[in-house]
Amino acid sequence: MERVTVVGAGVMGKGIAYAFAISNFQVVLNDIRLEALQKAEADINQLLNDSFQKGFLSEVQYARAKENLQYDMELASAVKDADLVVEAVIERMDIKADVFQKLDKLCKSDAVLATNTSTMSPTEIGAQTSRPDKVVAMHFFNPVHKMKLIEIVRGLETSDETVQFAKDIATKLKKEYVEVNEFPGFVTSRMNCLVGNEAMNMLMEGVASAKDIDKAIKLGLNHPMGPLELADLVGLDTRLRNMEYLYQTLGEKYRPSPILVKYVKAGRLGRKSGRGFYEYN
Ligand code: NAD
Repeated sequence: MERVTVVGAGVMGKGIAYAFAISNFQVVLNDIRLEALQKAEADINQLLNDSFQKGFLSEVQYARAKENLQYDMELASAVKDADLVVEAVIERMDIKADVFQKLDKLCKSDAVLATNTSTMSPTEIGAQTSRPDKVVAMHFFNPVHKMKLIEIVRGLETSDETVQFAKDIATKLKKEYVEVNEFPGFVTSRMNCLVGNEAMNMLMEGVASAKDIDKAIKLGLNHPMGPLELADLVGLDTRLRNMEYLYQTLGEKYRPSPILVKYVKAGRLGRKSGRGFYEYN
């Protein structure tokens, strides 16, 4: 059984930890904020209970998953036995660089280090370590327990062995994968950010209400979620960082919509703060 450590226990980290735990990996979840780690533990337990009650997990799977999970604020102890680390800290290169420099020193020499970045360069992240061949992006989707895909992104130095390892992990998690060569935003975020940004610009221009923009895209174009409700689910702060990175690397087309900038300044971060393009209880 592989041991996995997930660094960053926010929206994505807790979902990734849950997905590994129910697939019988031993999982340690780490965050620098106690509050985030406690909230993640409560949310994971809630999801385990709901999944058990709805019959998605057997009693044995449920009990095992609970046993498989540990929570640890100390990075050194959290990663020391890990065969795989999945980094899910906020989308800032300086913070990811610092995390990977530490991981390189603290992890076993043969451990694979994966980043869940939505947009950023696994080559640049790998260059922070002495093992760029063992660094890869494994881009999970939100909510992790429902979404089937992992986008596996190869950096310049990522070895074939590491890509194969990531594919094997995806299969053990019962996920599908696509293999992508590094380019800002990969396949999914590059496309999704653009659609979301256009919806935000339409809202700002008064083309239609948020509800009607989402309804048009769902019923007219057959998307399962509208772009504005999806942005609220992602987190508007995270989406803004994604847009800023794509704007810097790919140019004008990706300039963040002013309404997105304004909402983040106001603390309207989407579901996680209770208010974004919609209100949540
Ligand atoms: P989030 O803000 O919900 O959570 C980030 C967590 O990282 C916070 O709990 C924070 O305390 C923690 N953190 C910050 N610095 C840390 C450090 N040095 N060590 C340990 N923990 C640290 O963000 P998120 O939405 O979960 O996004 C995380 C990553 O996943 C980003 O790279 C993002 O682009 C990517 N991503 C997000 C989504 C999404 O829908 N939200 C989807 C796919 C990928």
